[in-house]
Formats: sequence, structure tokens, C-alpha cells
Amino acid sequence: MKLVVLGCWAPYPAPNQACSGYLLEIAGRRILVDLGHGAFGKLQHILDFSKLDAVFISHLHPDHCADLSCLRHAILSANRLGRELRLPVFVPNDPPEKFEVLAGFEDAFEVHTISTDSREPLEVAGIGCEIFRTCHPIPTYGLVVQGEGTKFVYTSDTGWKAELVDISRGADILLCEGSLLTADSHLAGKGHLTGEQAGVLALEAGVGMLVLTHFWPGYALRDLQQEVSYVFPGKFELAGEFRAYIQN
Ligand SMILES: [Zn+2]
Ligand SMILES: [Zn+2]
Repeated sequence: MKLVVLGCWAPYPAPNQACSGYLLEIAGRRILVDLGHGAFGKLQHILDFSKLDAVFISHLHPDHCADLSCLRHAILSANRLGRELRLPVFVPNDPPEKFEVLAGFEDAFEVHTISTDSREPLEVAGIGCEIFRTCHPIPTYGLVVQGEGTKFVYTSDTGWKAELVDISRGADILLCEGSLLTADSHLAGKGHLTGEQAGVLALEAGVGMLVLTHFWPGYALRDLQQEVSYVFPGKFELAGEFRAYIQN
């Protein structure tokens, strides 16, 4: 399993950077997880988009899905030149007014809607995955992918919920949002975690590695790093553009 970070900023990117976007390679498949502002440009540095097997969009906030329109136009352009591409895209069907826009992209995407109040199995590009509903103002889904003897968990955007510990248990890589410093924890009720909470989650779930992501450009990242390190003594990194994490 290989995870490459395309973008890790929210809700807007730092200069020359991108919002959420992650390329997951597992069992010979390439799954693009989220595609926020600027992430499609970053993807093109490392992969021909036509080699993607599927896209998973965790929720319809623009920092996670804005560049779907770029991907659509790239596919349409390739098809005008003789290709016959149509990419499976897994996407929440709520909020409906946002989903309607994406549903209109059927000329480039094979749209699969996702919707659950708890946890549910989901096959993405032939890989058996699990999705789970997170704690966020609009329907948002985290992703669990297991294959090649490894387990990957992506929390997407979420506030704290006890179920996260069970879901993340034993993950080789936990890609967890850590949007807030503890001093701003009063904002966590809006559906985000502090870095400290992400560290507690990693500790309680016994993960092999914590990769913290979803950073506000206004923070000094060393502060976030410090707050996580106080509570989580295990292997831990801040996400960064093109950083790759490999588990065999
Ligand atoms: Zn969000
Ligand atoms: Zn976000």
C-alpha cells in the first residue's frame, strides 16, 4: 500500500499548495481520495489521470471536491482526442443542490452515490472498503481500506466520536484530520478535531502510524506537531505535499 499526499490544507490552500487530495495505491489499483482546490494540478505531477481506477469523495465541501470539475474537463478533452474514458466516482448525494452539479458530470464520470448513517461496506475499484459516517455539518464519510495485509483509515472531516477508535483500531496508517490547536478547541463542535484529539485517537486505536492533515494556513505547524507529540508517542508525521507513505 502506498499513500501519496497531493494536498493537506483547509479550507483554502497555502501559497502554491492544494487542499485535500490523496492518491492511494493498493493491490495494483489507484484510488484518488478527495480532490480539493489545486489537487488535480498536483496529481498531474505524479500520475497520468487516465491511470486512475476510481475517485472517492468524502463530502461535498469544496476543499474536498472542487477540482472534480478540472478532472471532468481533462477526461472530456482526452475523449475528444479519441480516448473513451469514464471514471467511477463515489460521492455523497447530499446536499442535493451540490450533488446535482456533479450528477451532471455523467459525460466523464460513472457516478456512484454513497449514503449511510453508520458503517457500510463499499467496493471501490474492486477493493473491499468500508465507509463510515463522520461528525460534520454535511454528510461526510470516512474510508477504511484493507488489502495486502495492511489497513488504511481516512477520517475525512470529523468531530470527536467514540466510534472512531474502533474504526481506526490497528490501522497501519491513520490519515486523520487535525484542524485545530487546543486553544481553538471551542470550534471543534463545528465538526473538526484538534491535533491533540487526533493524537488521543491514534493512541487509543493503537495505530502503526499517524499522518495528520487538514491544516489551516494560519497556524504554525510546529505548534500542531507539538500538541500531538505530547499525547501520542508513536510514529507520527504531518502530511506534506508529495510525501509518500508505504506499508508492505
Ligand atoms: Zn468539510
Ligand atoms: Zn475540509
